[in-house]
Amino acid sequence: MISRSTLIWLSRHEGLKDFATKFRLFKRLTTRFVAGETIDEAVSFIREINSEGSTASFDHLNESVSSEAEASKEVSEYKNILTRIDQTGIRSNVSIKLTQFGLGLDPEIAYKNAREVVLEAKKRNNFVRVDMEDSKVTQVTLEVFKRLRAEFEMDDVGLVLQSYLRRTYTDAQDLLKLPARIRICKGAYNEPPDVAFPDKKDVDENYVKVMQLLLSSGIYHGIATHDPKMINAAIDFASREGIGKDKFEFQMLYGIRRDLQRQLTRDGYNMRVYVPYGKHWYPYFMRRIAERPANIWFVLKNLLKG
Ligand SMILES: Cc1cc2nc3c(=O)[nH]c(=O)nc-3n(C[C@H](O)[C@H](O)[C@H](O)COP(=O)(O)OP(=O)(O)OC[C@H]3O[C@@H](n4cnc5c(N)ncnc54)[C@H](O)[C@@H]3O)c2cc1C
Repeated sequence: MISRSTLIWLSRHEGLKDFATKFRLFKRLTTRFVAGETIDEAVSFIREINSEGSTASFDHLNESVSSEAEASKEVSEYKNILTRIDQTGIRSNVSIKLTQFGLGLDPEIAYKNAREVVLEAKKRNNFVRVDMEDSKVTQVTLEVFKRLRAEFEMDDVGLVLQSYLRRTYTDAQDLLKLPARIRICKGAYNEPPDVAFPDKKDVDENYVKVMQLLLSSGIYHGIATHDPKMINAAIDFASREGIGKDKFEFQMLYGIRRDLQRQLTRDGYNMRVYVPYGKHWYPYFMRRIAERPANIWFVLKNLLKG
């Protein structure tokens, strides 16, 4: 069976990306993890989950953009999303990636673009979550986030940390001093062992440690995982420490464990679903396959169905 790291490596392959995104046949497969190509498709899905009690985080798929013009288009797209959220009354915030706003070109460009989106969100009483990408950009992402946080409030902009990184517990302690709203997840990229724990057991252990630190802070954080062990650890810790169900939220990805999403909502927990849409689905889709290589069978089955 093809390995996780090979799949993540493939997710970065420009040639395959161009090839896959050209063909309708491949596009059809993405519906498992992507809400559609347009804002309207994502809005209609978010309406549905809102009616079941979940909230959403809107994500326009695109990363590692290669020109300033493309990065500016992403700013316009996010302004459109924030407008649509207001017009439709859906309950959703937005998630952004700094490489989508030009981080790879110049961190200053990414900062200015992200600032424009956070400003728009603030005007509209909404919230921007800055996703965390691979470890080559961890430090610069933290720096850009801190600049944003220096200007905007905690309820305007938040950040993501990944429990597979060795540095994350210290980063969490540091960010809590600002203070800041954090989404903790395990991490979705290929990382070398000197920066990330190679063993799942250590990633999980660190996840629980950081989750407990976050929940104890009294700040509203996001516990992003589909792993029942992590979810139960959060539920147990919160009930032991007398932390109310309304003091944090669970977060999951579109298309993954919808049964568990509904269950947690029914049990009275806040649930936010990350809802990606757009034409540049290839790297995101491949990371989802990599998280559970058994997903390849789903892809092959659907390809064969024609
Ligand atoms: C809301 C949200 C935002 C995220 N943001 C980021 C981010 O900014 N940066 C980043 O690096 N990562 C991000 N991630 C991805 C995250 O890092 C993990 O790669 C991903 O969530 C899988 O880890 P897990 O916690 O579900 O645990 P795992 O141990 O990987 O999985 C636990 C169980 O969940 C189910 N599952 C997990 N993934 C899949 C899948 N793809 N398909 C089918 N079932 C699956 C399986 O049943 C699996 O046994 C985000 C995840 C979520 C939920």
